[in-house]
Amino acid sequence: MQTPPEITLDPSDWDDFRSLAHQMVDDMLSHMKDLRSEPAWQPIPRPVREALEEELPRSGSGPRAAYRDFQELVLPYTNGNRHPRFWGWVQGNGTPLGMMADMLAAGLNPHMAGFDQAPVLVEERVLQWLAELMGFPTSASGVLTGSGTMANVLGLAVARHAGAGFDVEEEGLQGQRQRLVAYASSETHGWVKKGMALLGLGTSSLRQIPVTDAYRMDVEILRQEIATDRRRGWRPFSVIANAGTVNTGATDDLPAIAALCKSEGLWFHVDGAFGALARLSEQLRPIVEGIESADSIAFDMHKWMYFPFDVACVLVREPSLHRGTFALRADYLGESDRGVLAGGVRFSDRGVDLTRCFRALKVWMSLKAEGVAKFASLIEQNVHQARYLAERIEAEPNLQLLAPVPLNVVNFRYAPPGLSEEALNALNRELVLQVQESGVAVPSSTILKGRFAIRCAIVNHRSRREDFDELVEAVLRFGGRMRGGI
Ligand SMILES: *Cc1c(COP(=O)(O)O)cnc(C)c1O
Repeated sequence: MQTPPEITLDPSDWDDFRSLAHQMVDDMLSHMKDLRSEPAWQPIPRPVREALEEELPRSGSGPRAAYRDFQELVLPYTNGNRHPRFWGWVQGNGTPLGMMADMLAAGLNPHMAGFDQAPVLVEERVLQWLAELMGFPTSASGVLTGSGTMANVLGLAVARHAGAGFDVEEEGLQGQRQRLVAYASSETHGWVKKGMALLGLGTSSLRQIPVTDAYRMDVEILRQEIATDRRRGWRPFSVIANAGTVNTGATDDLPAIAALCKSEGLWFHVDGAFGALARLSEQLRPIVEGIESADSIAFDMHKWMYFPFDVACVLVREPSLHRGTFALRADYLGESDRGVLAGGVRFSDRGVDLTRCFRALKVWMSLKAEGVAKFASLIEQNVHQARYLAERIEAEPNLQLLAPVPLNVVNFRYAPPGLSEEALNALNRELVLQVQESGVAVPSSTILKGRFAIRCAIVNHRSRREDFDELVEAVLRFGGRMRGGI
């Protein structure tokens, strides 16, 4: 039998590929530079949708054709979070340097389970920097993850490990003697239910504690619920507090919850998805005071540090508990103190993933390039912009602020006099869609105490004050037009 010639995925003509690669970088940088003149979002036209329903390519058309399709079919039709007037949900913009670092990381392509290699030392250093920024001891353990959800779920898993009272990894929760109960405010992000379900704890073992008018957990009710559950013979194991809730940016009373956890012997986990990053700013630090006493904390650098997706982090104060939760040995990963496997697979021993990408590189390079102070100033800038938007809303008789603005999230509605609550809800529901479809800006929405709110979560390093003026004007314009039609 004749052996076919050997093939590879490297280019056959490196010079040609090099010029295409340079073109890709140039095009994307030009696109980023000119974002402001593009619509914040645009619907996908039918022909584009149809073109994307392509049959599986059995043979290739080459990188230039594939790139052309990317430019025509994909690039213009994303959810818009790169744009200066995108404030929907809580989504960062990405950064040019972060993009290039991701390219370098993909080119380098190290396997980040562990191993004796410089990229691992980079991730360890980044984790130490982050621990320092959060006021954690540098002995704390941590791992970078792909999402805040995963970072939080890992934290909850360590809490379960520490608080179960038996070897939960070995025995599991089947035939469990005592019900394990966790506590979080009713404003906690949806990850917590997913986490409770995934860890076999069950969503019914999550106590959702009511909040005060400022959307902060009612600590007195928390105390009572813990006592009630203990009387039932159940086993409280963790309180999950918020630094920056997804709805309104509220931060729970972290020092009070920390003290309660200490006296009750409960694991104190903080979901600081974006709010934790307020700690970078000396001005804002008092808002999240107490975060430094958490047993574990999760936060997202792809939100309020603006890095390209995805990069989040969980920090665990006590390294042995972190490792104890996830370090399950396999023969093909045997320990060694020499060779490539020296140091073992330390990162896969701190989470679920074995194969991991080098997401630490964009954090490391960006912190070195910009310094922490720059990020602190940007975070402060977003908070000032939120306050500015709130002021503009309060100065407009037909706009109404619907929640306090403690951080970077603003909830409001178009509320001309004389309309019922139902009519206002319907009007604002339509209004948000019209603003999005116009391409002017992307706010999102939520429901606060039964009221439909237009919601802006500002984690955007490209926004300027004038962008918020444009939003206010668009809301008044579309609102006025719709009201005319009612
Ligand atoms: C975004 C967010 C999460 C989830 O993080 P992902 O990175 O989207 O998985 C959790 N909690 C809060 C408060 C959030 O804002």
